[in-house]
Formats: sequence, structure tokens, C-alpha cells
Amino acid sequence: MKIKRIVEGLVSGGWLAGMCLACGLAGMAQTPAAHKTENVIVVMIDGLRWQEVFRGADPELIKAPGPEALDDPKGRAANAQKHYWRETAQERRQALMPFLWSVVASEGQIFGNRDLGSDSHVTNGLNFSYPGYNETLTGFADPRVHSNDNVPNPNVTVFEWLNAKPEFAGKVAAFGAWDVFNGIFNRERCGFVVNAGYDPLTAIPATPELALLNALKAETVRIWLDEPFDPIPYHTAVEYLKVKKPRVLFVGLGETDDWAHTGSYPEYLNSAHLGDSYLKELWELVQSMPEYRGKTTLIALPDHGRGVGAEWTSHGEKIPASKETWMAFLGPDTAGLGERKQVGPVTESQIAATLAALLGEDYHAAVTKSGAPIGDVLGK
Ligand SMILES: [Zn+2]
Repeated sequence: MKIKRIVEGLVSGGWLAGMCLACGLAGMAQTPAAHKTENVIVVMIDGLRWQEVFRGADPELIKAPGPEALDDPKGRAANAQKHYWRETAQERRQALMPFLWSVVASEGQIFGNRDLGSDSHVTNGLNFSYPGYNETLTGFADPRVHSNDNVPNPNVTVFEWLNAKPEFAGKVAAFGAWDVFNGIFNRERCGFVVNAGYDPLTAIPATPELALLNALKAETVRIWLDEPFDPIPYHTAVEYLKVKKPRVLFVGLGETDDWAHTGSYPEYLNSAHLGDSYLKELWELVQSMPEYRGKTTLIALPDHGRGVGAEWTSHGEKIPASKETWMAFLGPDTAGLGERKQVGPVTESQIAATLAALLGEDYHAAVTKSGAPIGDVLGK
């Protein structure tokens, strides 16, 4: 806490901005620009396609009731049509992700609508989760990361890189539904709180809410053995945020991918809608807290796309369309250009350096194989 106060004082006092300007005059081209962002929250929504984000519910897929194994598939399809079906793509996406298409679309930036000449994609060639998270969080694809096995990541994420700096030490945390986040962030090595899967959060004293969340993790039915339903890790992350006020926070949601693999388009849409509501909740929560208000950037994106048509349930190396993603930025340094059109491609490998640059740190210079920061979202 002490370290954070000192750093905040320096930043708010303009000392850091002045220093960067001086560096710029000295001709150091890689110097991060002056910035207002002091905190970054990254929300990753596993395998949520750009097609739903930009076009809303698919006209054909929304008719499909999904697997008989889920109770009342016809009722689920009817609910999905009621909540997410509208005549135009603009109305459908607004119904599916109302926060993205109101606040982020007016005050932030959204990349990846191929219908309008904006391309966002992963570069790892594998188009599945661990390689996608590794690329996004380290800034580069690594051929050694080629499975979803829960093994310690040989690479250092930008989260670990930041946590090694005195001004961020102890101010970094990651929460995820999927238990493999323990490996992706390398929990044993990284030095910050990683809470994933069905593990209870014990790193902070239990609030009543946290005690209940830990009980639900232990006691609710496990549809997927490697991850609980998204509300549990999400609300756990929120409890942690309220108590510890981290400067760099990761929240990983997983139900979109799980329901898609299960073949339930209605539940896939419900989980996308829930993810959007969490972006809204998080944004409103941080704007209500002095530690975050006006100095926090929110980044949202998936770890891969999915196939099209009947292949919507799947993704991977053999489904080229599943490399296609989307990404959204909202914060005090990002100009409100909204939905980007006719713009150069962006890649998931640029997220790590962009995240760091928002905080005034030059990750791209330190890790030269990482993608360069996305200039358009920096320096409003
Ligand atoms: Zn995934």
C-alpha cells in the first residue's frame, strides 16, 4: 500500500509525465508517453466469437435447441430468441452485449469487425486456449506451448514482469474459471495471487461473501471438472479487488467456450451476455472507488475465435477462422473512436505491451519478441 501511494503521488504530481517528456526530447523513441492509467483490468471471455460480438445472435444457430442432455432445450432456444433475436445485426448485438455497444462503443475502442475492415487475430497458429492466453499475456506465440495441459508456463507473463517491479509488487492478481490459469500464470513462480478452478481463495481474510463463494466452489455440481460456473470466480475477483485494490487484475471467464463445445447456442449467448454485464459491473465498481476512478483502463478480449456454420462449436489449427478475435479498450488514455473501421490489423500478441504501455512501462523494449503496443489506444 505504501509503495502504491508513493507511486500514485509521483504520477498525479506529473513527475513521471515530465520525466517521460524529457526522455522523449532526448530522442528515446521507445519511451512510453504520458498516461493517466494507473490500473488495468483485463477480462478474457474464452472463445467468444467476433461474429456474435459485432453481429449479435446468428440467424441460423439461434434456431437450434442444443443438446437433449440439457433440461428443456426447446425452452432454452425460445428464451434465447426472446432475449437476443432482433431484426437487424445492430439491434441484436445491442441486445447481447449492451455495455459494449453503449459505453465502450462511445467512449472506448472495439477492434475486430471484419465486415468493416478491422481484423484482430491470434498469431499462434493453434487457435486454442493455452497458446492464446500465453500469446496474449506474454506478447508472443511460443511453439513449446502447444497443449492445454496444466503445466507451468516456461514464459513470464506481463503480469509477472510488472509484479517484479517495486511499484507493482503485490499489486497484481489473476482470477480465472479455468484451473489451467495456475499453469498459464505459473502460480508457483510468479509471486502474485493466482486463484483458479475450484481452489478456494485463502490469500485474504474471508469476508462473508468470500466464505460463501468458497463454499459454493466446493459444493456446487461440477459440470466441468476443470472450471466452475463464471459467477464464482468473477465475484471472487470482485471481493479481492475491494479488499486489496490491485493495480493489475486479470479475470478469466470460461462458460462461453464450455457451452459452445457442449453445442448449446442458447447458453453460449447467455454466457456472452453475462460477460458483458460483468464488464459493466466492474467498470461501475471502479468508477465508484477513489483508487480507480478516472485512472483505470479495462481491456476485454477472447483467447481465440471459433469456426463458422456447423463448426461454430469448435476451434483449433484445422479451423482457420478460429484465429479471428476481437478486442475492446476503455479508459482515460484511449480516445473514444468506438467501433474501428478500415484500420490496420491488431494481434493478441500486442496486448502485453499495450497493457504495460498504458501503465507507462515499456514491455516491448524489454521483451523484444513481443508485439508492439497498439498506438491507437494509447495517448488520448
Ligand atoms: Zn479457449
